[in-house]
Amino acid sequence: MQYETIFHEIYQELKSLEDTGHVADYIPELAHVNPDQFGVHLSTINGESYAFGDAEKRFSIQSIAKVFAFVLAYSKIKSDIWKRMDLEPAGTPFNSLVQLEHDKGVPRNPFINAGAIVVCDILVSGFPSPKEHVLSFTRRLSNSFTIDYNTKVAQSERETGFRNFALVNLMKSFGNIRNDINEVMDLYFHICSIEMSCRELSESFLFLANNGVIPYSGERILSPSRTKRTNALMQTCGFYDEAGQFTFKVGLPGKSGVGGGIVAVHPEKYSIAVWSPRLNKKGNSYKGMLFLEEFTTKTKLSIF
Ligand code: GLU
Repeated sequence: MQYETIFHEIYQELKSLEDTGHVADYIPELAHVNPDQFGVHLSTINGESYAFGDAEKRFSIQSIAKVFAFVLAYSKIKSDIWKRMDLEPAGTPFNSLVQLEHDKGVPRNPFINAGAIVVCDILVSGFPSPKEHVLSFTRRLSNSFTIDYNTKVAQSERETGFRNFALVNLMKSFGNIRNDINEVMDLYFHICSIEMSCRELSESFLFLANNGVIPYSGERILSPSRTKRTNALMQTCGFYDEAGQFTFKVGLPGKSGVGGGIVAVHPEKYSIAVWSPRLNKKGNSYKGMLFLEEFTTKTKLSIF
């Protein structure tokens, strides 16, 4: 398929559309990003790759990193993870406190902030140097060994992360955080600050399209069954309270972040990453969502 031609066509269509989104500025460091950047990268499990625009430019992947942290914790403690969190869509914003109080400190799923914070708690318990471990895991997945944390972004988020601290304190009060909250939050803010390009992102998610095995190294990350479940979770919970819309319009499992990135996976075929920093009201990339909707419509390559 002529993916690059399709990327170009969709980009031209979207260019004339007014981008009504806004860059995430509740994390001060993210407000400095040039909002007009746009990149796409598609990688297939057979080793083909197709790029468009700013596909090599690194950006803050934010919540997309929750998938890496979850996969690491899931592969470590297997189904025991479900003793600490649920696997249902939240239907509330990613940083909501209301539901967590009602659910007695048990997050609805691993991809909302509360769930990712519990995942970080599991990683702090499970690894002597969890920050190094998540980073080396991410580098292995993407086969790119210069990927790193942006400590300025992590610091900026720590200084303004009052809601995230409220979430961790609430969960600690219910006994669902076992470690020191500052250690857990240090890991959480760091994983959110990881910077990757569209190419690195699409490559790092390829194992989820390949039954749990990294195609270029042959390393098994998850069993086929846990791979299926991770994709199912991304499908139902990967887009804040817009997962239904994404499923309806795009029809692929995926995960977004407030840095404006979206990664989506077509099992047995490919992984695609799009980056456009302006976000819609739900916190998903405005043009990124539209791009992927057009992409799966034109190529007829969705899982439904
Ligand atoms: N670091 C962000 C936060 O905790 C992640 C948000 C996101 O990308 O969904 O607010």
